[in-house]
Amino acid sequence: MSNKINEKTSEHILPPLPYADNALDPVISARTISFHYGKHHKAYVDNLNKLIAGTEFSNQSLEKIIAQTAGKADKTAIFNNAAQTWNHTFYWSSLKPKGGGEPPAELKKKLEASFGAVDVCKKELATAATSQFGSGWAWLVLDGAKLKVVKTSNADVPLAQGMKPLLNIDVWEHAYYLDYQNRRIDYVGAVLDKLINWDFAMENLG
Ligand code: MN
Repeated sequence: MSNKINEKTSEHILPPLPYADNALDPVISARTISFHYGKHHKAYVDNLNKLIAGTEFSNQSLEKIIAQTAGKADKTAIFNNAAQTWNHTFYWSSLKPKGGGEPPAELKKKLEASFGAVDVCKKELATAATSQFGSGWAWLVLDGAKLKVVKTSNADVPLAQGMKPLLNIDVWEHAYYLDYQNRRIDYVGAVLDKLINWDFAMENLG
């Protein structure tokens, strides 16, 4: 995954989407992507660049900024914008056109060892996504040797708790409201069945 810094300006860059803005249609419309990527994600990057200009955090990777600002009350704005920049780049890669279906064999084995079955993992992801009160994220993570499903609120990212993210699902209303209104459960179900990118999770497993 690339979270790049422009070497000339030392500013964080909004990475290009890994597919066309209408490639996830009809599960996620081009209109949703245009706001979600073009406005929300871009705003996190722009705000981060403004907040860190001329500070100890300029020229640092997102991961470093996240690690150094997590849980610090006087660095909340920097943490939120750095984490949301990271979370969104990760989210775009957690989805793909014609995703869903069977995970690659090695990941499938690991999912079965941790959850009993792939479907149990999908159910846990759906439950985490729909039970997150307010804005946040559902995640598949590697925690020690075990795969786990966790949820985080607002900008929070499991990296900050020492877990390795494998994929995520954005459950902020801006991720689904234009297409699904209040039906978060339908958005999450469609993402898990039709878009989730198990290959990306496999790559992150390393
Ligand atoms: Mn979002």
